[in-house]
Amino acid sequence: MKRRKLLMIPGPIEFEPEVLRALGAPTTSHVAANFIETFGNALDMMKKVWNSPSGQPFIIAGSGTLAMDLAGANLIEHGDKALVISTGYFGERFADLLKRYGAQVTILKAPIGQVVPEAEIENALKNDNYKLLTFTHVDTSTAVKVDPEPIGKLGQKYNVLTILDGVCSVAGEEIKQDEWGIDVVLTASQKAIGVPPGLALLVVSEKAMSVWKKRKTPVANYYADWSNWLPIMNAYADRKPSYFGTPAVNLVAALEVSLKIILEEGMAARIKRHEKVAQAFREAFRSLGLKMIPQNDTVCANTLSAPYYPEGIDGASLLKEIANAGIILAGGLLPEIKGNYFRIGHMGSVNQGDVLATIGAIEASLQKCGHQAEPGIAVGAALKVLNQ
Ligand SMILES: *Cc1c(COP(=O)(O)O)cnc(C)c1O
Repeated sequence: MKRRKLLMIPGPIEFEPEVLRALGAPTTSHVAANFIETFGNALDMMKKVWNSPSGQPFIIAGSGTLAMDLAGANLIEHGDKALVISTGYFGERFADLLKRYGAQVTILKAPIGQVVPEAEIENALKNDNYKLLTFTHVDTSTAVKVDPEPIGKLGQKYNVLTILDGVCSVAGEEIKQDEWGIDVVLTASQKAIGVPPGLALLVVSEKAMSVWKKRKTPVANYYADWSNWLPIMNAYADRKPSYFGTPAVNLVAALEVSLKIILEEGMAARIKRHEKVAQAFREAFRSLGLKMIPQNDTVCANTLSAPYYPEGIDGASLLKEIANAGIILAGGLLPEIKGNYFRIGHMGSVNQGDVLATIGAIEASLQKCGHQAEPGIAVGAALKVLNQ
């Protein structure tokens, strides 16, 4: 019997064997010719995945929260006004983080399962003098997806920098950073990018870089300061050796492999695959009578799903049953409703077999926990979508 369980949480995800092999290869010097080439290739490919030919990519050792910190530390000066558009847990985190750097933060908070209406955002921008706004493409605590394009356009209209937390979306949801005029799009390696945890990844617009260059005060975080990292990124892009802090050599090698796999699949095909998988999960949950946090399909993420437990089902017991059936899922994260729902990550290399195995395990475990449904109904509903 296979002893390994299938990891279907919203990061870390299941990684491709080639990616893991790169991680396990002997570590080279950070100034070895082959590593310089690898780092440079990864920077070049990031611009393609982000759809940002004009952007400045950064690859820095750390988690997604460091990517958020890099944006906050470099773009906020004491007293700057920031607007945080929150669709869950990670919006709140951005607000806390920006305050550390002295920002005056206003939060526009969406009701659970909904997004903040565009008119409300425009109204806020019209009536105050914000330096930047942050928003979460897919909030991993609610599985709510925000449409970034109109917010990018609003940022341009009101001359406000736009920072997109794309930790749960980059390489899984459609992103056109340049076309949509978004100034920072940030993520972490362990989500849809498909590399074990440990890399903070972001692409920064020319406009945001010039705002940063005009700072009057030094960046209050030494490790995060772009003054330290920009020369390093430029050197690797020019295929030259350099040093500030030792890069995560093996993770960068794994990143090069994963970005190659992503671009070989093609962004359009990859996004379509994620849409189809998400739809299969939604139809499966509907067939079982499970309600989801996002209030309609247009705000449903394609990278994860967040259904409520059915009435009378104990969440902890259900997740335990599902784990016994070989599938690891995640519990709730949003404090207000933490115990009432669970989360399934379905991003990255996820395939039809993973989807059907997961839905089969959920369906069987629900039944064991006392939820009545016709056996096979959820797998059937998912198959109908996948076979289209
Ligand atoms: C996972 C996640 C983060 C935090 O990333 P870490 O790597 O855990 O620090 C931030 N924002 C979103 C939307 C995420 O999904």
